[in-house]
Amino acid sequence: MPHVFVGTTPRKKVSAAGAQLTYHGGPLLANVKLITIYWGSVWVADPLRTQLDEFADFFVSSSLLDQLAEYSVAGSQTIGHGTHAQTLLVTSDPPANLADADLQSFLTQQIANGTLEAPDGNTVYALFLPAGVTVLLNGAQSCRDFCGYHSVTPDGQIVYIVDTYDDCAGCAFAANVLDSSTAVFSHELCEAITDPHLDGWFDDNTGFEIGDICEPQTKVINMAGTLASSGSYAITGTGTADAAGTITANLTLTPQGAPPPTPPPPTGQSWVVQKEWSNAEGACV
Ligand SMILES: [Zn+2]
Repeated sequence: MPHVFVGTTPRKKVSAAGAQLTYHGGPLLANVKLITIYWGSVWVADPLRTQLDEFADFFVSSSLLDQLAEYSVAGSQTIGHGTHAQTLLVTSDPPANLADADLQSFLTQQIANGTLEAPDGNTVYALFLPAGVTVLLNGAQSCRDFCGYHSVTPDGQIVYIVDTYDDCAGCAFAANVLDSSTAVFSHELCEAITDPHLDGWFDDNTGFEIGDICEPQTKVINMAGTLASSGSYAITGTGTADAAGTITANLTLTPQGAPPPTPPPPTGQSWVVQKEWSNAEGACV
């Protein structure tokens, strides 16, 4: 049963305060290898494609991914940074209505013909569909019942995320389509990393995964500021030692030569992401 980002119909109220993710023994995506795929001719000119790829570049070394480290499993599965390994634009147009099985077939075919990198134990394929395409999933319908989901093929080979275009009324819950899209995408990414085969981390009482508990709470994050600065200094001063041998120094640093360049602004592009459940903090963070 794929896990869906609902986003539309009110879901049953669960107290996040009582949530607890439990590990069920399955694999995690320890160093996620993220592959983005855009299916449909409209993506050629849609700036959202570039924006989502920039978000993918950002996510794989972001503070949001760092948050997931608490769900590392002792031994071999330490959750750390990943890579945005590939982006693929498929300019054929998908049918207006798709079933989950159709999307599995599409991914399987793209891997078989070599246009998509083959999966390894860290790969997740994130498939973005154009506006007006409806996905049917176990009787549920995109935009009406869900905005995105993650799942795995029955053979366990292909871990994937599906995100229908988040401009429809049921999914346009943020200020613009980019913010709605990254909210859904981040929710599914964090779940795909911590529960790729649906036997990783989830709440035994509700079945909820890391993102479900906190839906639809969002926050804004950006690239951590790096105030790199370098330069040469002359050091002058005197030191004194007291009876106990503690040395007190009085030093002066005088810049030498050219001043260091002005550091870049501490913040870059900001992104709207969904908050995720933290067992350690007992809260959505
Ligand atoms: Zn979810």
